Amino acid sequence: MADNNIFRLENVKVWFPVQEGFFKKTVGHVKAVDDVTINVKRNETLGIVGESGCGKKTLGKAMMLLEKITGGHVYYNDDGTERDITTFNKDEVFQFRKKVQMIFQDPYSAMNPMKKIYTEMEEPLIIHGYKDRAEREAIMEEALKLVNIPVDYLFKYPHEFSGGQRQRVCIARAMEINPKVLVCDEAVSALDVSIQAQVLNLMKDIQKEKDLTYVFIAHDLSVVQYMSDRILVMYLGKAVEMADSKELYDNTLHPYTVSLLSAIPVPVIDREKNRIILKGDVPSPINKPSGCPFHKRCDKCMKICEEVEPELKDVDGKGHFVACHLYD
Ligand code: SF4
Repeated sequence: MADNNIFRLENVKVWFPVQEGFFKKTVGHVKAVDDVTINVKRNETLGIVGESGCGKKTLGKAMMLLEKITGGHVYYNDDGTERDITTFNKDEVFQFRKKVQMIFQDPYSAMNPMKKIYTEMEEPLIIHGYKDRAEREAIMEEALKLVNIPVDYLFKYPHEFSGGQRQRVCIARAMEINPKVLVCDEAVSALDVSIQAQVLNLMKDIQKEKDLTYVFIAHDLSVVQYMSDRILVMYLGKAVEMADSKELYDNTLHPYTVSLLSAIPVPVIDREKNRIILKGDVPSPINKPSGCPFHKRCDKCMKICEEVEPELKDVDGKGHFVACHLYD
């Protein structure tokens, strides 16, 4: 079973110090990701959802070593050997980054407006040691074909593309060094809805063709449902529920996930009646409540919830994980 995981995260923490005063004394920590233990299976799409500030982006960045991991381990395995990326030296990080690439939310700011697409796409190849210009051009052309962009567009500037085309160029740029994993950070949220569908379908086709694994971070639950094989729900830096996509939507267990899913708009006039509006605000990640991090907003809160933090457990023995005392 472990061999089927391309990533395995064990008690991962990403904490940022809060400093005060002239001597910058550390007076606390923002616990952006707090003790998260999950896995990502080979060739799957793992969707990560949650409100702003829940830690989903930070978790994605930690998996790429773009954020310093404060505690725990991130194991990566694409060739049968599991290795802890938190112990990598500089060269190993460089090699690892070839295999795990990121697609950013805003394709325009992910490119230099002063540079032609040719330069944008050539730079990563030069960095990764492709010395022969003809070889670089062949790779760039193949990557553009993969995302259905004409090859002569290499000589255009980013502003000459539509939003959807720009995001497809970003996907081509990520694909040209043959990664195994794409971490997609709100990859379609800056696009019009009609363009979103095109880009999502293209990403699904590329995944099949290239045997890719996606970590798909988004706040749009409909998009996540469409893209994901499994979904992880995060709240206040914690993993609160994880299951197969269909199981999560059909048999939602955690009260927070229930409220999140109730917010998906559907074309039914009286749906508003079923919407669950959470009370209060998300607590501060610097000063988290004791017990269950959701207990101050949960309408099913019990005495134990205020005192004991629930563990993420496989409650049906088939991979539906939930951290809630209702299922102890
Ligand atoms: Fe609600 Fe308690 Fe479950 Fe937390 S553990 S989600 S407070 S029922």
